[in-house]
Formats: sequence, C-alpha cells, structure tokens
Amino acid sequence: MRLVLVGPPGAGKGTQAEVLSRKLGVPHISTGDLFRSHISNQTELGLEVQSILDEGALVPDSITNEMVRKRLADSDADHGFLLDGFPRNTAQAKVLGEMLAAAGHDLDAVLEFRVDEDVVVERLLARGRTDDKEEVIRHRQQVYRTETAPLLDHYADKVISIDAVGEIDEISERALAALHSLRAEK
Ligand code: AMP
Repeated sequence: MRLVLVGPPGAGKGTQAEVLSRKLGVPHISTGDLFRSHISNQTELGLEVQSILDEGALVPDSITNEMVRKRLADSDADHGFLLDGFPRNTAQAKVLGEMLAAAGHDLDAVLEFRVDEDVVVERLLARGRTDDKEEVIRHRQQVYRTETAPLLDHYADKVISIDAVGEIDEISERALAALHSLRAEK
C-alpha cells in the first residue's frame, strides 16, 4: 500500500505510522525523522536545515523533494510505503504525484488524523523535542493550517479521516478498519 498520513503536529502520526508500518509491512518514511537524523549526524544537509526545524518553518521544497526522491528509490519502498510528514504542501504533492506516475504507481489513500489543537499542545510539550516549545508549536500549527491542510482538498477523493483522540491501539484499529474497507471496495 502507498499511503500518506496527514494531521496537525501532535496528532500522533509518527506513533500511528510505526504501528501501521509493522501491520501493513511497508516502510515508515518520516521526513522529520530524516531531517533530524541529518542534523544529529551533522551532514551538510543537516547543517543547512537545523535552524529551519528549530523555528518550526518548512524546509524549502527543492531540498525536501530531493531527499524524498532518494528515499523512495530504496528497494524497501518498491512495494509500498507510509509517508509521514510529506507532502506538506500542494507543490510537494504534485512532485510526489509525478514521482509515482513515472513508476506507474499511485497513492492508495491519504489518512487524515483529526484532533483538537489545544489538546495536542499539551501532548507536544510533554514530548520535549527541541522544536516543542509552545511558540514554535503554535507556529507549526499555523504552518499546518495554511500550507498543509489544503492537501485535504487536493486529495479529496483519497482522504480517509480518522478520529485521532483516544488510546493508541484504538486509533490504529480505526485506521486499519478504514484501510480494510478500502481494500474490500477495490
Ligand atoms: P515533523 O517531524 O513531521 O513534525 O517535522 C519536523 C520539522 O521538519 C518540520 O517542522 C519542518 O521544519 C521539517 N519538515 C518535515 N517534513 C517536511 C516537509 N515535507 N517539508 C518541509 N519541511 C519539513
């Protein structure tokens, strides 16, 4: 399956992506994790993007798209993937569409994780990442509303919305049930 996860910061996308990746047998590809790994390894790319992540702004599309293009070319992504944090705007979505079309593929679904913003601020502050300071979180939420939420219209015919409030297991069950009914329809 080729899936994209969308949801505001703190919706639990990363946690759900790990569970779903195991259950579906496809790699979990998180652009945030890829950037953080570059930063901790102090690669050239890492040094370039560090201050951008610290501010909660988006890394330029040119850098992000190339990083994703390379990752999707790895053989473990041949038969499917779960993208977490990419695309983050409609320009990235178009590039992803072109990358997939070039290989004769398409996305199966876009999973939207829905949560209330104030609930997630508490959750994020508890996580303690360097970009988890309240003003940075609020900025990332703003970026989500203006840049990323329009993806839900862009992908209107592929979006499956999941209520992401509750226990981790409960939420994964909801996501898996939704994906199974999608498969049954096909
Ligand atoms: P995340 O782990 O998904 O919350 O991402 C952490 C940070 O990485 C974001 O606040 C951005 O600075 C950067 N980032 C992750 N994915 C993208 C993307 N698709 N486009 C641009 N920046 C991104």
